[in-house]
Amino acid sequence: MKIMPNRMDYGFMRYQKEFEDKALEVLRSGWYVLGKEVETFEERFAAYTGAKYCASVANGLEALQIAVHLLGIGPGDEVIVQGNTYIASVMGITMNGATPVFVEPDQYYQIDADKIEEKITERTKAVMVVHLYGHVADMDRITAICRKHGLKLIEDCAQSHGATYKGKMAGTFGDAGCFSFYPSKNLGAFGDGGAIVTNDEALAKEVKIYRNYGSEKRYYNKVVGTNSRLDELQAGLLNVRLSHMEEITRERQELAQRYREKIRHESLILPKEREDTETVWHQYVIRSERRQELIDYLSQKEIGTIIHYPIPPHLSEAYAYLGHKKGDFPITESYSDTVLSIPMYTGMTRQEQDYVVEALGGWK
Ligand SMILES: *Cc1c(COP(=O)(O)O)cnc(C)c1O
Repeated sequence: MKIMPNRMDYGFMRYQKEFEDKALEVLRSGWYVLGKEVETFEERFAAYTGAKYCASVANGLEALQIAVHLLGIGPGDEVIVQGNTYIASVMGITMNGATPVFVEPDQYYQIDADKIEEKITERTKAVMVVHLYGHVADMDRITAICRKHGLKLIEDCAQSHGATYKGKMAGTFGDAGCFSFYPSKNLGAFGDGGAIVTNDEALAKEVKIYRNYGSEKRYYNKVVGTNSRLDELQAGLLNVRLSHMEEITRERQELAQRYREKIRHESLILPKEREDTETVWHQYVIRSERRQELIDYLSQKEIGTIIHYPIPPHLSEAYAYLGHKKGDFPITESYSDTVLSIPMYTGMTRQEQDYVVEALGGWK
């Protein structure tokens, strides 16, 4: 049996008729960028997360970049972010000319709240929390630190649509919750998409102006903005998928539960869920000291896996200018060397999952 690490066709086929009807409706409407599907999606996505406002943008990276910019962060400012994140989190900071200051992750792969305060300087303007793999960071502690030091709080929720901490959804703890709707994300479009949720009415309005060349009224430009708009087709398809988010999340949680119960192997470290949180399992990330052997073994059985991520941002070529070296963030680096995402996707069958579990059980 051939098992892909992730597949998006199952998620399409599950709601195929609804997606196709909506696509035709939008195509026939004669209106394609920023329209009623976008407005409806913004209202519904805000309601879904529990935030007061939502402003959609073109992708997750620009959600981060725009949030950082509109919160007044730029050259000379520092933003604290976890070391083991996807590079986009860091680019959302550096595109604004600000400097990322890395913090080691905790045992749940999230920023270690105990290690934030020691990194705060007079240049620190914000903490960017990344709810990685669909887990949620230690939000009581982090919001308290931000309040105490007068820092902005930005949440990168590209992997955590619907994840909660004490019943409150990721993205609603700070000044701005930034989402990606890239097709492989839990709430995926069929192209690029992104959004910022916030309880700050002025910020939501500024995003809507900034994303459309800085204009509120066409051809009257208030600020130097950008083009970061969501299109009607993506918004319409997102409206369809959003209606099924509870089912989509529950399914991932059931898959994770079955992995937890069925994977029995002393040399594999399984992911843990923080108390008081509900993880949405964007990835199911295990760890092994013999990762390459495990990858080879699984690929012989036609089971695909992915490393999220093989090179931490502080060691990537793109960020050589920050001057970090190997050994600066040992926990981040050890995760990079040992993490492995095993197959997890909407529509994964029992049979497929059992095949993965059996293979893992037979690994010597
Ligand atoms: C996917 C992702 C992004 C970027 O989203 P795009 O829509 O691809 O620009 C940012 N941060 C994290 C953690 C992501 O996983």
